[in-house]
Amino acid sequence: MLDIRIERTSSPKAKPADETKLGFGKIFTDHMFIMDYNPEEGWHDPRIVPYAPIPMDPACVVFHYAQECFEGMKAYRTADDTIQLFRPEKNAERMQSTHDRMCIPPIPVEDFVQAVKALVDVERDWVPHTDGASLYIRPFTIATDVGLGVHASHLYKFMIICAPSGAYYAEGINPVRIYVEDDYIRAAPGLTGFVKCGGNYAASIKAGELAEEKGFSQVLWLDGVERKYVEEVGSMNIFFKIDGKIYTAATVGTVLPGVTRRSCIELMKDWGYEVIEGKLAIKTIMEASRAGKLEEVFGTGTAAVVSPVKELVYEGESAFIGDGKIGPLTQKLYDTLTGIQWGKIEDTKGWTVPVC
Ligand SMILES: *Cc1c(COP(=O)(O)O)cnc(C)c1O
Repeated sequence: MLDIRIERTSSPKAKPADETKLGFGKIFTDHMFIMDYNPEEGWHDPRIVPYAPIPMDPACVVFHYAQECFEGMKAYRTADDTIQLFRPEKNAERMQSTHDRMCIPPIPVEDFVQAVKALVDVERDWVPHTDGASLYIRPFTIATDVGLGVHASHLYKFMIICAPSGAYYAEGINPVRIYVEDDYIRAAPGLTGFVKCGGNYAASIKAGELAEEKGFSQVLWLDGVERKYVEEVGSMNIFFKIDGKIYTAATVGTVLPGVTRRSCIELMKDWGYEVIEGKLAIKTIMEASRAGKLEEVFGTGTAAVVSPVKELVYEGESAFIGDGKIGPLTQKLYDTLTGIQWGKIEDTKGWTVPVC
């Protein structure tokens, strides 16, 4: 149990007037959570203070060797003005696994969840009221040792910031075109693909930019060894419905274990679908498409919830999915998850957690 000191701002910012124009991660709330680590005291001095720049020495480890990591989650306002989180302990557990891989001391799951709740409670007026809009929460940890030697830092900062963000699909759910990347890779066995560290993103930006120039909204990553098997799409996990069965990559070392992914798998199993977590070759997918058996493709992640795919392009060949519209299973997953998150349908899973 953290003893969190709260220092409120004396100059709160104006809340955004038009919640339909929030975008994603562009404006930030009035406060932030900070907790420091040193070897003598462990994690200490948990505090919520006015949102402000943090002074840092230019030689801090994080700037040079990227010893850092992050999480992404949301707070939702329900019709009766309850503010709730979605499976926050899953983010806390994943942050622990990320800390472990990045050689950062762990934060207890209860402390992580308590810190998120405490900050969201202070910022509850910032949780949007508009349908589909939410408060995006970004916990992150940075290495703050000063010095250029390559080794694990002794000092860290764990922080949480919040950004009111608009409905991902402000103009309705638009299925996207995806470029199957057969040159660049994002992960390989033994590396960091299974954790949420900024380095994974730094390595992925170039392929994303090139795909965007060609008119695609994301890249589909293949495995880093053989460039044969599908792994993830952009910052989402990905699912394929082929001839009635559901396929997604197993989260063994190179694939990020998404909370949305896990939740979709549980729902689809409840609905009687066979869900196969394992290797699926891009060639099998293209063959299924030619045979008319590639029924639905969708990405999953906290930001978009589910993102339907209408076209995959691999080695110059297009696989068109469905009739270019969102498929019925994708729609049902979207409706069910968003229904639970915004409190519109009963949470029989115990996935939502009120902030206080
Ligand atoms: C965060 C993330 C996801 C999605 O995880 P959720 O917990 O569902 O938000 C998928 N892939 C990558 C690479 C990610 O960083």
